Amino acid sequence: MEDKKELRTWLNNMDLAHPLVIAGPCSAETEEQVLKIAHQLKDTDATVLRAGIWKPRTRPGNFEGVGALGLKWLQRAKEETGMLTTTEVANPYHVDLALKYDIDILWIGARTTVSPFMIQEIAEALKGTEKPVLIKNPVNPDLALWLGAVERFYESDIKNLGVIHRGFSTYEKTRYRNNPEWQIPIDLQTQYPNLPLILDPSHIAGRRDIIFDLCQTALDLNYDGLMVETHFEPDKAWSDANQQITPKALAQMTSDLKIRVAEGDAIEFKNKLAMARTKIDVVDHQLIEMFGKRMKISDAIGALKRDNNVAILQTKRWNEILGKMILDGEDQNLSEEFIMRVFKAIHQESINHQEVIYKK
Ligand code: PEP
Ligand code: MN
Repeated sequence: MEDKKELRTWLNNMDLAHPLVIAGPCSAETEEQVLKIAHQLKDTDATVLRAGIWKPRTRPGNFEGVGALGLKWLQRAKEETGMLTTTEVANPYHVDLALKYDIDILWIGARTTVSPFMIQEIAEALKGTEKPVLIKNPVNPDLALWLGAVERFYESDIKNLGVIHRGFSTYEKTRYRNNPEWQIPIDLQTQYPNLPLILDPSHIAGRRDIIFDLCQTALDLNYDGLMVETHFEPDKAWSDANQQITPKALAQMTSDLKIRVAEGDAIEFKNKLAMARTKIDVVDHQLIEMFGKRMKISDAIGALKRDNNVAILQTKRWNEILGKMILDGEDQNLSEEFIMRVFKAIHQESINHQEVIYKK
């Protein structure tokens, strides 16, 4: 907690509230759109206006951003509302223009963090800058790539750094557009406890209804801020329409969120406890998902056995599994008795599932 306060310095120096709220559209579409959203955000806790000018779209043929023109719109929004501005930069050319138009905070997109070449070029273009730079996690769940980007920026003497957690893509479809994999930002925070950590619930969720819960989890884990995609007419947005919320919904959300502050022993204790409990909730959720996955495989095996007229219970195979798991359990400091109980329960559930399949 102590460390945290110290290296939140650039957030403190810029007099940015805790938690920092960054909001605005996925993409700048028109000057009117940017200005209208910025003015609506004045009635919220957002102090930084986001808008993508150059949009990295996974596949061509979608709206790829208005380009440099949008920088003037952001400048005007800043003049009119007093909000700070931020946009994504993906190469040295973007960096030059963003600096020229006095964008206050730059962010590095997930598709850029995966490329050490690009990161190096951007870090060199920004060498020694005082501007805060926020590095999104790479699209793939690889902590080393994320750390590598942080290190390249530090080596380029860019001190006002932060990271944005926007989730990780998977081939498998889950309830998220990008899996949060909370353990990865938690590991990053353990290595760099002073680096401000911001949640981007919009790109994790890919939809509106789970944004609140994601934000609450982040605040329970002591994140420093939120970056939320916001549009006055979300359904009509030119990119990421499903996940944007209105400025009004944002205001409601931040007033409903429980913000945990780190002050005094009792509060610090409560925060630590809340943080540990949230970590447990994350792992428990993963356990349930894994059980679900395991039972789906059991179902498939059940169908195979049924079609080949084989008995459900295969004692030899079961004893093998149990033996291996007891050994694995020892490595994790789990007692034999615990492993036996857990795996008997799993095995029973698996048999129940297969019986249902047999009856079909
Ligand atoms: C965005 O912020 O609109 C964006 C493109 O994000 P990401 O790099 O996380 O996909
Ligand atoms: Mn977006």
